[in-house]
Amino acid sequence: MDTELGFEYRIVRSKRKSVAIHLRNGQVEVRTPQRVDPAWVQQFVASKAGWVNTQLAQQLKNKSQQYRMAEGEIITFLGRKLQLKLRIATRNKVYIEAGKLCIEGRIERPEKALKLFHNWLKEQARVYMIPRAEAYAARLGAEDKLQQIRFRKTRSKWGHCSSKGIIQFNELIMLAPAEVVEYLMIHEVCHLVHMNHSKQYWKLVASHCPAYKKPQAWLAENGHRFWFDIEAL
Ligand SMILES: [Zn+2]
Repeated sequence: MDTELGFEYRIVRSKRKSVAIHLRNGQVEVRTPQRVDPAWVQQFVASKAGWVNTQLAQQLKNKSQQYRMAEGEIITFLGRKLQLKLRIATRNKVYIEAGKLCIEGRIERPEKALKLFHNWLKEQARVYMIPRAEAYAARLGAEDKLQQIRFRKTRSKWGHCSSKGIIQFNELIMLAPAEVVEYLMIHEVCHLVHMNHSKQYWKLVASHCPAYKKPQAWLAENGHRFWFDIEAL
């Protein structure tokens, strides 16, 4: 630990031309060109220490807020709080009962329970989101442009709409409140009309979801919780 900086860092030299600081899983990596004065690097890192420490603290906080796949933990489904109830059984079954999300099956390891949960969640997302997204597309007169709705857990985005009319959602969005899920559907369906984030695009979004900034802010603030923290188990 560098006591003055408050963190340790690793220097990675490569053919690059500039210096950059990367933070991953609480580790600080300084990427530099092959030939660079170590004293200069140290000075550079010191000048960015405030930013690095803020980012590290934020990452740590975000990680502590991630859901955990363990008995008794609280998660959400369409914004509703549910307590996890895990039971080892010969048959796989996931269901909601009396405020509990029950996961049954060969779930000796938490990864297995998480897999069952994710499969269930994807199915829930299909049933809930496909008809609603299709209805929005029809309202916009864009039902002919909508080719397919897919679900995939992508780290970078909650949703995506391709120029071919294929809309992709991250099924983890089903853990958010219904109005957030609704916003995401409107966001992607509106791309069937405008393939950009132009003024006209946002006008169209606002005509279907006037308070769209609220769910946007909610997602930015809370979305990281839905990625289950497996390491913490
Ligand atoms: Zn967009």
